[in-house]
Amino acid sequence: MIVVMKASCTEPDIEHVLIFLENHGLSGHPSRGVERTVIGVLGGVGPSGTPGVIGGINPTLGEVLEGLPGVESVLRVSKPYKLASREFHPEDTTVTIDVPCVSKGYITIGNHELAMMAGPCTVESEKQLMTTAEAVRKEGAIILRGGAFKPSTSPYGFRGMGEAGLKLLGKARSAFGMAVITEVMTPTDVPLVSEYADILQIGTRNMQNYVLLDEVGRTKKPVMLKRGMSATIEEWLLAAEYILSHGNRNVILCERGIRTFEKVTRNTMDISAIPLIKRLSHLPIISDPSQGTGRRDLVEPMTLASIAAGADGLLIEVHPNPDEALKDGAQSLTIEQFSHLMPRAQAVAQATGRAFVTE
Ligand code: PEP
Ligand code: MN
Repeated sequence: MIVVMKASCTEPDIEHVLIFLENHGLSGHPSRGVERTVIGVLGGVGPSGTPGVIGGINPTLGEVLEGLPGVESVLRVSKPYKLASREFHPEDTTVTIDVPCVSKGYITIGNHELAMMAGPCTVESEKQLMTTAEAVRKEGAIILRGGAFKPSTSPYGFRGMGEAGLKLLGKARSAFGMAVITEVMTPTDVPLVSEYADILQIGTRNMQNYVLLDEVGRTKKPVMLKRGMSATIEEWLLAAEYILSHGNRNVILCERGIRTFEKVTRNTMDISAIPLIKRLSHLPIISDPSQGTGRRDLVEPMTLASIAAGADGLLIEVHPNPDEALKDGAQSLTIEQFSHLMPRAQAVAQATGRAFVTE
């Protein structure tokens, strides 16, 4: 349920509504927009004892609320996902990531600044990681990507260096003043990965691993939730709802391509998901053209298209020698290709009134 306040309402009117909700065992979450304030109402019991969302309207409560000073109307949230919906939270969400080693001490995702997340698919060695991190940082990437715990379609594929990989990420993080994003695959690994990661990545194969979503929802760490390779937009936003419903509001979505009949590309990059998510949700969205296409030659055009479509950032695989990469070499850019891409990405961002944050 959402309480829409009148444009002319006062701060005491808002306070009054919040107290009224509290007295009825509910909690109000104001979203103060330029034009008006709306208050999302939470209550009841959700998954594992977390607060649920009032989807419908208790008629009596709705009527009383509508009569309170400053209230314009009381609306039902029509979507199955509530906290993730733009109806519930009309303003864009900006996720703030505390990163003591970057010059401002934090990075924001979801405002007018875009974030470039770049690095190898998988951490393979100190030399590979440090070379890549230094190069992408120099070109303007502010977030280092690299998998330490890797999901592998084949059990014979490289599954990452584990904790040793996390330690290398930590080393590169402080050496080059970057934030780190890396995947967490199991609920039991969440505390360990959280020690090294500034953003926890949930991979496509785990989008519907609900116990994992519950666990990252219990942390306050920013979480980047990739779209399941066969997930609808609604299923994806419901997965985000799991994390949000535990109180972790630092959720970032990531479009990474979906499975279709097409075989020329590894996945079909659903660029339309970017503006669509912006309509349906307030959460920031990142584009991953590396997994999205599986082809190095398509990464730059899809990067530029994603920025034009409104993406809040990019996740791009870069390797000093992609032909020797232990994972995803075919879709990894060389350092030279990344250097070619970055100024073009910056130009498209500027054409849309935005810029990549590089410091
Ligand atoms: C990755 O980012 O390297 C990765 C494994 O992504 P996804 O979960 O989208 O396949
Ligand atoms: Mn990869």
